[in-house]
Amino acid sequence: MNIFEELGIHRYINAQDTFTKYGASCMRPCSLRAMQEISRSCVDLDEVQRKTGDAIASLTRNEAAYLTNGAAGGLTVCSAAVLALDSEEAYHALPETGARCEIIIQRAQRNQYDRSLAATGAKIVYVGEGDKPPSRRELEEAITERTAAVAYFIYHGRDASLPLEEVVEIAHRCGVPVIVDAAAQNPPVENLWRFTALGADMAIFSGGKTLRGPQDSGLVLGKREWIERCRRWGPPMDGVCRGCKTSREAMVGLYAAVKAYLAQDETAVQCALERACARFERTLRGCGFTRVWREQEGPVGQSFPRSFGTVPFGSAVRLAQLMRTCGIYIGAQEDNSILLNPLMLTSRQVGIVCEALKQSMREMKREENKNGCN
Ligand SMILES: *Cc1c(COP(=O)(O)O)cnc(C)c1O
Repeated sequence: MNIFEELGIHRYINAQDTFTKYGASCMRPCSLRAMQEISRSCVDLDEVQRKTGDAIASLTRNEAAYLTNGAAGGLTVCSAAVLALDSEEAYHALPETGARCEIIIQRAQRNQYDRSLAATGAKIVYVGEGDKPPSRRELEEAITERTAAVAYFIYHGRDASLPLEEVVEIAHRCGVPVIVDAAAQNPPVENLWRFTALGADMAIFSGGKTLRGPQDSGLVLGKREWIERCRRWGPPMDGVCRGCKTSREAMVGLYAAVKAYLAQDETAVQCALERACARFERTLRGCGFTRVWREQEGPVGQSFPRSFGTVPFGSAVRLAQLMRTCGIYIGAQEDNSILLNPLMLTSRQVGIVCEALKQSMREMKREENKNGCN
């Protein structure tokens, strides 16, 4: 009996998005092997943190790297680093902060993940109006002696934000570090060094999304000075960061994932994604979808293609439900279209999704006909 049968857990193919709720992505065998290997011995966790961090930093063209339990955990550890700096007393007092306790965010970028910064006791200060970017002057004036950092979310509010380059320039001129949340910003692979090359002091990535590391892993890439503080205040230290504890297994699992991600031929991967989309779209047209199209952008602006189609009868929501009973997650949108995301699928799974689509469309047709007779 396998574990699915033993516990009665359903399996799904994820053709929607790398949502944590749906298990996001599947680890590569190389991650699992590394995890299994290190699990058999006790080790000095600090040594694992440093050595995997240094290896990931050199792979990703960064000065230093810190491994944590997720992008949210990364936000909390970075927040503690900017609040405590090098003071043991200040760190252990958190979530009670000193006067220098503010983290600035552009209002348009406001989102639920900023609570992970606030978890240390940091006070989030929003600048700008929401539907338009703050002026450079407004940002500059918001930075005071109470400011510990400026945080920047790469996708949220991107049309109403000052560009990262300008934020970095202003923050640094005022002597304040910049934390970038780039949790889901792969592909392209270059993003692993792009934001830090633009001057971000810390750039945070999820390990369990496109990188396909352990679900409970994450990465802070950045300047040595700040990564040292993450290492100092992060687990196994107790205090506000203790909830961000990472296992040695997750650390080396993520290392193996990053190494494999960097070793893959990005052009070949993109070609495979385009082929998967072409296959989706042939299936949608064959099923009579009225409008079928492709977008060259992931849900948070990443560079990969996704397929869309407007359902010809019934509803997109019903189709997504029927697909789910076939063990497949797809997206249903308000305009009665579905979305199919090939990012995390093998070519075999693409075939399974296409077959399930045909079957689900036949089922929806039957339902429609039945309703018509009532
Ligand atoms: C997914 C996501 C997170 C959380 O990532 P975890 O690795 O699941 O903790 C944080 N910020 C953004 C913008 C995300 O997309």
